[in-house]
Amino acid sequence: MTTYTGRLLRVDLTSGRTRWETIPSDVQRTFVGGRGFGIHYLWNETTSDVDPLGSENKLLFLPGTLAGTQAQGFGRWIVMTKSPLTGGVARAVGGGNFAAFMKFAGCDLIAIEGKAESPSYLFIDEGGAHVMNAEDLWGLDTEKTQSALEARHGKRVQTACIGPAGERLVRFATITHGTRTASRCGVGTVMGAKNLKAVSISARARPLEAHDPDRFKALVKAHVGILKDHKRVVKLHKFGTTFLAQMTREMGILPFKNFQTANMEGIENLFTESYTDMRVASHGCFNCMTRCGQVHVVKDGPYAGARSEGPEYESIWAFGAQVGNTEVGATVRADNLCDLLGLDTISTGNTVGFAMELFQRGILTTEDTGGMELTWGDHKVMLDLIRMIAMREGFGRVLGEGTRRAAEAIGRGAEKYAMHSKGLEFPAYEPRAAKIHGLSMATSNIGGSHMYGYARQEISGKADPRSIDRFADEGNGDIAGYNQIAKALEETGILCNFADSGMTYELLGNLLAAGTGFKEFQESSCLNLVGERIVCLERCFNVREGFSRKDDTLPERMRSEPLPDAGPATGEMVRNLDGLLDEYYAYMGYDGNGIPTPGKLRELGLDYVEFNEVVR
Ligand code: SF4
Repeated sequence: MTTYTGRLLRVDLTSGRTRWETIPSDVQRTFVGGRGFGIHYLWNETTSDVDPLGSENKLLFLPGTLAGTQAQGFGRWIVMTKSPLTGGVARAVGGGNFAAFMKFAGCDLIAIEGKAESPSYLFIDEGGAHVMNAEDLWGLDTEKTQSALEARHGKRVQTACIGPAGERLVRFATITHGTRTASRCGVGTVMGAKNLKAVSISARARPLEAHDPDRFKALVKAHVGILKDHKRVVKLHKFGTTFLAQMTREMGILPFKNFQTANMEGIENLFTESYTDMRVASHGCFNCMTRCGQVHVVKDGPYAGARSEGPEYESIWAFGAQVGNTEVGATVRADNLCDLLGLDTISTGNTVGFAMELFQRGILTTEDTGGMELTWGDHKVMLDLIRMIAMREGFGRVLGEGTRRAAEAIGRGAEKYAMHSKGLEFPAYEPRAAKIHGLSMATSNIGGSHMYGYARQEISGKADPRSIDRFADEGNGDIAGYNQIAKALEETGILCNFADSGMTYELLGNLLAAGTGFKEFQESSCLNLVGERIVCLERCFNVREGFSRKDDTLPERMRSEPLPDAGPATGEMVRNLDGLLDEYYAYMGYDGNGIPTPGKLRELGLDYVEFNEVVR
């Protein structure tokens, strides 16, 4: 027995045919699982001329190697594809029960290919995998879609689906399961382009047996013992990530009004207490004691009765500080609206804030917006824009392209105010006040994501691999690489960032070894190489698409405007991005143009990767 199912389900939507394949053991050994399998297959089965929204693009659903087991915090699933926002590799992570049920249904990977002629969904049960008609589901929001499929296939069914935004090819559409979403990089857009409304799984819950069950059980027991009284677990369970808003505001890290400043009157309305007052339940993913999900119901005010699982930190920022709004009920309503319509809250809030800054500067006027005044803090306008983006109506059609493309379409210098890296909108981390986060978002292969290499050193002061100065203009380039490699390794599991309390690389390696039977996973030297291999192959994917040093950058604002009103971070800017890039490349084994060297490729067993001469 092993925690691998060892199987890949291949679904050709063009022909409607499905087939099962074996995942070779050398792929298991080299890439471990989850995100590792994702980039292995994406690299090998696509070419650089693939249109992200064309039938040749692949859409990969991946549970981790430890999903569906008793191990704590491995309930996440990843979607990988070529991103319609960035044109590079996409990675989006979701939660709930979907990862476990992919494993129960026998899949270590579901590879979606081709394009269905008409709206379809994939249904997997013990009888096999079937492409079914979804005409009646097309147009439904994510909640109604899941309810309809539950009514059709029974209570046991678990569904991941797109909403109207994915159907209409809004470039930052999500894939939703329950109220958890795989949000970033436009993975829902690719699903919509394939005419695939949903993937539904009906399977009996039967945890996967580890290769060494006694050892695996003992390791899980030891981890549970640590989690029981762990302070961070208690805090996350009680408040989710809502407490971060006050903390990052005080550190100068919380961006306001499209990254123009780091403070705003009334922001206290969006601190934890306001959400604790509205909390009615908590919610968790499969086998997770942390249960960080907070269900909120607005008690009074203009949005009384609005309900959402969330908003968490990022969405509080997206519909609060980023758009100048302090009406707490509106953040709950906006969060829920995005979940139902299938929009990435980070990209949505970022894009709305971008439009508001353009309006503030007179780059946009009511002539462009169809008469709408895009005023900071106007939550009614924010909610209208969210709907218009999802439905691609009026000015929402332009914004639904994401900040980079919208700026190009608007012209008049708008690009200067688009806060993104490689086309993926920035989250709630100000690069000038958290420079390792900034460097990681500049170099991230998926674009402006804080989760590609979360710099816990800057937020909680974790001294791993060493303590750092978050304002330093040099000397921390290696830390961004270290964090990215560690994250990639965790996402073979797939371990959640918020459920990793008490988790060490030793414990992770032991769990992987006991689960799979590959003893070498116990060795840190082996695991480090796995993490590095994944990030490196993701970089190779982007290099094949034409990415290089020129794309590892931050908006001009971060490099030339001192950050105002940011407490301890006041006056900071990213003064030496080039120097930090050189340090990062040296650590990662990339040349001065950000391209992996032949020696590094050999060391990682990726010597089959070849770039054309133009690249080098
Ligand atoms: S910590 Fe939260 S997001 Fe992470 S696995 Fe647990 S419930 Fe899910």
